[in-house]
Amino acid sequence: MTKWPLIIGAGFAAVVVIGTAAQIRSGTTCPILCMFKEKSAGQMTENTKNENEELKKKLTPLQYRVTQLKETETPFTGKYYKFNGKGEYVCPVCGNVLFTSDAKFDSGCGWPSFSSPADINSVREQTDTSRSMIRTEVICGKCGAHLGHVFDDGPQPTGLRYCINSAALDFAGQDPNAK
Ligand code: FE
Repeated sequence: MTKWPLIIGAGFAAVVVIGTAAQIRSGTTCPILCMFKEKSAGQMTENTKNENEELKKKLTPLQYRVTQLKETETPFTGKYYKFNGKGEYVCPVCGNVLFTSDAKFDSGCGWPSFSSPADINSVREQTDTSRSMIRTEVICGKCGAHLGHVFDDGPQPTGLRYCINSAALDFAGQDPNAK
């Protein structure tokens, strides 16, 4: 008589016992799947840690703090505030085209300002309730990097002012200051 049914049964029982032990330890309700869940959560943490280390190497400290930690650069200090180059502004994290010089205008607010994004999918917006204010945060449409905020006091026809940190932009065009 073959012993396979016995071996398979014993193997299944072992999986259930180990799974139940893991369930008790983690407090979850899935006796077997939680083992895999724990492993993938741990793996995710490790991946996020590695991605963060890579970003710290790739970005300047200010670019990292602005795009990843949602800090705001000091007004009137950013390299693109008074910049008039013709071309595209891309995300320093992922290279996604965010804005073009055609939509850039001088709002006097201290940060580069645009009346519209380059494309409908260039940026995404989400509600920001930090600093006891309700604002609309603008993030990269591709990687989610923090860029700045959008306000409804811009020029027509959009009436919008995308107030964007220079540190969240890389210029990819003709630099009039380039030698
Ligand atoms: Fe991006």
